[in-house]
Amino acid sequence: MKKPILILLTLCCVSLLHAGEVKLSGPDGRLTVVVSDSGGYASYRILYDGMTFLDASPLGLTTDAGDFTRDLRLGNASDACVVDETYSLRNSKRSEIRYLAHIREIPFVQDGKTVFKVMFSVGNNDVAFRYTVCRTGEALCGVVRQEATGFRLPAGSTTFLCPQSPAMKGFARTTPSYETPYTPDDTPGKNGLGEGYSFPALFRIADRGWVLISETGVDSRYCASRLLGHAGGLYTIGFPQEEEFNGNGSASPGITLPGETPWRTITVGGTLAPVVETTVAFDLVEPLYEPSKEYADEYGCGTWSWIIAGDGSMNYAEQKRYIDFCAEMGYRTVLVDAWWDTRIGYKGIEELAAYARSKGVGLYLWYNSNGYWNDAPQGPRGKMDNLIRRRREMKWLQQTGIKGIKVDFFGSDKQAALQLYEEILADANDYGLLVIFHGCTLPRGWERMYPNYAASEAVLASENMNFTQSSCDAEAFNACLHPFLRNTVGSMDFGGSTLNRYYNAGNRPGGSRRVTSEVFALATAILFQSPVQHFALAPNNMIDAPAWAIDFMKAVPTTWDDTRFIDGYPGQYVVLARRHGDIWYIVGVNARKETVRLTLDLPMFEAGETVTVYDDNKRLEGRVRTVRTGKRQQFSIAIPTNGGVVIHN
Ligand code: CA
Repeated sequence: MKKPILILLTLCCVSLLHAGEVKLSGPDGRLTVVVSDSGGYASYRILYDGMTFLDASPLGLTTDAGDFTRDLRLGNASDACVVDETYSLRNSKRSEIRYLAHIREIPFVQDGKTVFKVMFSVGNNDVAFRYTVCRTGEALCGVVRQEATGFRLPAGSTTFLCPQSPAMKGFARTTPSYETPYTPDDTPGKNGLGEGYSFPALFRIADRGWVLISETGVDSRYCASRLLGHAGGLYTIGFPQEEEFNGNGSASPGITLPGETPWRTITVGGTLAPVVETTVAFDLVEPLYEPSKEYADEYGCGTWSWIIAGDGSMNYAEQKRYIDFCAEMGYRTVLVDAWWDTRIGYKGIEELAAYARSKGVGLYLWYNSNGYWNDAPQGPRGKMDNLIRRRREMKWLQQTGIKGIKVDFFGSDKQAALQLYEEILADANDYGLLVIFHGCTLPRGWERMYPNYAASEAVLASENMNFTQSSCDAEAFNACLHPFLRNTVGSMDFGGSTLNRYYNAGNRPGGSRRVTSEVFALATAILFQSPVQHFALAPNNMIDAPAWAIDFMKAVPTTWDDTRFIDGYPGQYVVLARRHGDIWYIVGVNARKETVRLTLDLPMFEAGETVTVYDDNKRLEGRVRTVRTGKRQQFSIAIPTNGGVVIHN
């Protein structure tokens, strides 16, 4: 009987020793995470410059092996280590990225066993953490039923969120597809449409700054998650809805034991600069396979007929006309959208591809992801859902010289869906194809994880402006959200920069009317980041758009060596800078009801340097001129409602 008492005493001593907290601060000491086992509950809180940015927020999970959310105590945390890595990334905000952080692994013990460990990474503005679920018995595999993981906002915070759509709703029962509108400056305590919110989620912490919450490193080994809203400013990790994928596949991720969850990321700043500029989605992940070729050589601009001219443009003659237009613009690729399989045919595509090649143009082909998970009728169907047929199709794509594919209509965050995304990417790499996803989930670190990944939609994209006038009217509002939200964590295939006044093939009055300026269109070509951009330009723009706008669009880059936030407020206006080689582009757009007037410090330009300025007058008539920078490298700009500005050297 002596032995158990001894062990108990030891446990008491250990718990007394650890009664409390483990701390980890970032390299510059301003950002601190405090992890606690108070009351038997695992929790963490986040401080920046000594001020609370997240209150005590829950940690823990429930698996088929037990409830690991209570009766927990801190084990012996590892010593803090420094991570200092530099890596290249050609398809996001900055080409050379330094991941500098302090990391520490913190175990939690229940009934004498370490049940999970939490690895924290704390940088100067980014906190990330993930669980390792430990083996507590003989089992080598498990199911995570639920996570307690949460994020508790201090009182007075406001939210900038888009609701996760209920499952199997919308067009052909294809939701959730991350195509719901954001509400800025809202109050916490809500739960969207009843199903929580999509990542990333932005919060304004009263009198202090901003917090951006997302996740990264999500692949076939887990599901993608959402945020469930609760009273008191608490948001917790939610797994996919049971109904998603037409009820097929589990909503609860299966893991090996021991096994890791994805990283949850919290970007913290006194201003919006850390939010706009964060690379945390890429810092914490690794490439999952070797690229079969140098995909970065194939990034660039393209055109697509569907956005302006719709299904009616899906014929050989019209696609040939767009290939000519693409060549005239000096662009790389034409995206051939839905229904090509029946309206152009495989032989027709082979002829089109050969014609395009003779013009120095490549093709992307659209595919339906289905399958058995929703009713989207567009063809080709049944080519991407099955490994045998998919690889046969991809072999044909490679032989035909197709550059990439756009796969649409996924509509689930379940692990089974994540497996499908990963298998499409991995197979496409074997056949040298770049991949764009539409009707899809948010990419979570995929730019670095999958070398042939190009971009995802996961946004109310340009198609909605074709569909409804209200989307045209809200174009500037949405453009002023994406740099602070959707585009902070992943490439966004928006398909915009329309120069047509009307969304129809003839550009004649009728249907949706663009209310933004031409300079606005130019600015969003840089504001919206994706390494592959199929712009919503039309052949008629060679005649009916201003020559300076076409000339600008001919030369616009799609890859960036640096990105900097300059000014703005989500949903109101935004000014940011991106650098391509030696050229800095300063771009701004305005959704406010009044003109935004700013004096910008632009030290990236040399004193006395001649720069080119595109801006609008009050009637949204654009102009271009050259200006010499003064000694102080300051610029006064005025952006009218629905207008834009672009300055480059
Ligand atoms: Ca869509």
